Amino acid sequence: GEALAVSARVAPLGSRLVLLLVEDLTEARRIEAVRRDFVANVSHELKTPVGALSLLSEAVMDASDDPEAVERFAGRMQIEATRLTSLVQELIDLSRVQNDDQMEDAEPVRVDELVAEAIDRCRHTATSKQITMAVGGTAALYVWGNRGQLAAALGNLVENAVNYSPARTRVGIAGRRVAAPGGDLIEIAVTDQGIGIPEKDRERIFERFYRVDPARSRATGGTGLGLAIVKHVAASHGGEVTVWSSEGQGSTFTLRLPESAEKRDRRTTPADGP
Ligand code: ADP
Repeated sequence: GEALAVSARVAPLGSRLVLLLVEDLTEARRIEAVRRDFVANVSHELKTPVGALSLLSEAVMDASDDPEAVERFAGRMQIEATRLTSLVQELIDLSRVQNDDQMEDAEPVRVDELVAEAIDRCRHTATSKQITMAVGGTAALYVWGNRGQLAAALGNLVENAVNYSPARTRVGIAGRRVAAPGGDLIEIAVTDQGIGIPEKDRERIFERFYRVDPARSRATGGTGLGLAIVKHVAASHGGEVTVWSSEGQGSTFTLRLPESAEKRDRRTTPADGP
């Protein structure tokens, strides 16, 4: 498809329609290939926790007269259930990103609401790892965009911060307004004290399915799609996502998004006019 698209691009102006059709087709094929990959990958990832849950439930039944064993198996069932939840969440995020008509539903979105939703999403893991969440500077900030997509993006960053950090560490979420030539930007930085990302992998972590340590990622229900979703959302909003990291010390992911000129939430304000 690539060669075809390239030759079509240099075609004379008279064949503009053909050119558009050919480019459309290649893009459609590319998306279809990504979708196929994705379905194959996720189906494979889903099999692991489902298989484990089925074995563990049998083990619980066999061990019904050994309360200690039952408790142990139940604990492992809970871990597998968390993995399943997190995989399903990634599927939901991806469909949100693919189906929504990009910026069609853009509106002013409160940053502290996005943060609350993101924290809620990994509350269970954060509590069991005794990770402290510290939020600052997010009040009264509004970004312009698609609420569902923005929630998916920030949710993924916070989820990663929790997943790739050891117990009893701190995850910080900081918001601020930054002046920029094309209009003010809102910066949301998610900082962890986790394992960090080796320099050689830092560029590639935003690619679909790329994982520094697949075994570790899988253990937390990761598919390698989260950061690809974040990057996609940032770009479609005219923003960006960047990473700073020091191996063994932690990482900071910074999301920069256009500020909403209109500073109110359309969902909670009463309809205009008498
Ligand atoms: P995954 O589903 O594997 O978490 P992501 O696309 O969200 O996929 O992230 C890609 C990879 O980047 C992860 O597998 C992990 O190796 C690395 N990574 C992402 N966030 C962090 C973080 N906060 N600290 C350390 N490594 C991270």
